[in-house]
Amino acid sequence: MSILEFDIAALIISLIVLVNYERKKHVRDGLSAIFVTMTIITIVLPILDVLYEAGAYFQFSRGTMMGFLTLYYIGMETIALCLFLYLFGQLRLRDNLTLPFRIALSLPHFFGVAILIANQWTCQMFNYTEDGLERTLFSLFIYVAPALYLGISVGYALIHRHELKLVYKVLVYFFSGINLFAIIVQLLTDDLLIHCFTLSICILILFLNAYKDRNLLDNWTGLVNKVHLPDHIKKLIHNKIPFSLIMVRIADYSMLSSSYGVDNTELLIAQIAEFVQSFVPVGDAYQITNNCFGIIVKHKRKTDTAELQKKLYEGIDRVWNVNSMEMVCTCFISEVAYPLHCEDEKSFRSYMLYFQKMRHKRYGIISATEFGLKNKVRERQVELAMTRAMKNRSFEVHYQPICTTADQNFVSAEALVRLKDQQLGYIPPMEFIPMAEENGTIIAIGNIMLEKVCQFIASHDLEAMGISYIEVNLSTIQCLQRTFIPDLERLMEKYQIDYRKLCFEITETASNCEPKIFTENLRKLREMGFLLALDDYGTGYANLQRLITTEFDLIKFDKYMIQTTWDKEEFHETFQKLLKMFHSLGFHIVAEGVENLEQYNFLKEVGCDYIQGYYFSRPLPEDEFVDFVERHK
Ligand code: C2E
Ligand code: CA
Ligand code: CA
Repeated sequence: MSILEFDIAALIISLIVLVNYERKKHVRDGLSAIFVTMTIITIVLPILDVLYEAGAYFQFSRGTMMGFLTLYYIGMETIALCLFLYLFGQLRLRDNLTLPFRIALSLPHFFGVAILIANQWTCQMFNYTEDGLERTLFSLFIYVAPALYLGISVGYALIHRHELKLVYKVLVYFFSGINLFAIIVQLLTDDLLIHCFTLSICILILFLNAYKDRNLLDNWTGLVNKVHLPDHIKKLIHNKIPFSLIMVRIADYSMLSSSYGVDNTELLIAQIAEFVQSFVPVGDAYQITNNCFGIIVKHKRKTDTAELQKKLYEGIDRVWNVNSMEMVCTCFISEVAYPLHCEDEKSFRSYMLYFQKMRHKRYGIISATEFGLKNKVRERQVELAMTRAMKNRSFEVHYQPICTTADQNFVSAEALVRLKDQQLGYIPPMEFIPMAEENGTIIAIGNIMLEKVCQFIASHDLEAMGISYIEVNLSTIQCLQRTFIPDLERLMEKYQIDYRKLCFEITETASNCEPKIFTENLRKLREMGFLLALDDYGTGYANLQRLITTEFDLIKFDKYMIQTTWDKEEFHETFQKLLKMFHSLGFHIVAEGVENLEQYNFLKEVGCDYIQGYYFSRPLPEDEFVDFVERHK
């Protein structure tokens, strides 16, 4: 193939890219301008190349030929600068380019263009004569600026290799490599070679990989597709630019579609999208789901976001005219700000998910606090605290003594997990256990707890202390693991303790759990000889059949049930009858949350076997617990 054919191929490729890019709806921002500039240059360069070849053949004037060459080199230089700017734009915002930085960045380009233009007259670098192109050693200067920009790009890509997407890194290395190669080849030969062709291939790669759907606007509503919102947020946070994300959700969307029809509802949504878009520049309004929009407002725009929310709400909460039909519509609106409410992308993500799902008692503007947003941030912090504690195995066990009503002897204790974080202080289990159950860490926490309790049992003479067994809380999730029993067996093997010294507490709700593995695990626990307790009785849905088939040793009455029964005298008799029935079925009863002597006396009278509560002791650290038991022997 001759150079001409390569040039034509390059021209066609770049033209196709440009046409395809322009045909799609995009957000026109700085990056897209750079991309278009690069594409246009890759179209112009092969044209210049062809013209140059033609000029040589038809013997164009020297001035014209010098013009072609100069423009060609300027284009090459500009494209290298564009590459860096494009890369920079992937992580940073144009606003962050300070004036000195801009000047420093454009100096090599300015210098390069200046010497190229001067060369028209001075001919110090190259000249076009009747014999063709003549170059001097100074022609190396042409490559200084492009090489500089390519070098900076490669350096930038290396420094930010963890943040940049793979496609951009590959592109930069590929682009620089090819250019370097082309420059070397060009130094050795006089022809302009296939440089243009390789450039157009780079543009094609960029288009296919990165630009394919970048900032593509939703065909229906004209808003930016939600997949680009995380990128936008990431960039703003990366650049530490304060902003608010305002979310709008059309209420009762499914009701709208079922009563007015899907088509009409879509038309309504398009109208609302247009309304939402009217407040911010294109590119800052996002389509999150069918009925949910997000708006980014940079604080430096000085938009009053409270006012904006009000306008949005008043504008949406009304009767809309669609297909000459009236449609009633309303919405939820809420705002979160960086860095006030959310400090990282993950918090934004969970906020958005929560906003899309949440049920709220009234429509309208929901403030961040009302929304429980502080909790979202806190949730993230607690999650991190859990990770830290897991790494350091710094979860602690506290023991709450349990005594008999018959002779007030302390015969057992419940092991309760404690998490003290250096940053957040004490975090109550009611806060982190549900989270641990949601993200699966409960299994690891449960294992740590179990091992610590085993260590305690193995290193103390429980019998001498008068303690028969220690109660350990078991999460449903733990009971659903096939590894649960084998892991437990290994632990028992390691510590060589009597199985009857451990009592597993399973919550009432969990005891109704049907999966086969769950019942099987409980059965195995029984067979192995562990004690079993039904925890929090009175809060769930325990059915009698289940209670009997699982053969619990203990039923632990929940503290709220104890409190309400105690408060309402009319329940006292029924409560006594209930206890009698449980006794007749062979269960022992533990009352939790006993806080005073009156309660204790009442519970003893109605027949509770064991008492646990602040009245005797709060959960205690290991050594305090040992002291406590010694003192009360
Ligand atoms: P739970 O199993 O019902 O544990 C009893 C809770 O009642 C403990 O709260 C205990 O400190 C508290 N309590 C004891 N006596 C009184 C009293 O007289 N008055 C009042 N108001 N409260 C009393 P804690 O330690 O905050 O634990 C809360 C829950 O967290 C536990 O409820 C249990 O469901 C869960 N939990 C604690 N440790 C573990 C664990 O190691 N694993 C699992 N899976 N869950 C645990
Ligand atoms: Ca418990
Ligand atoms: Ca309980």
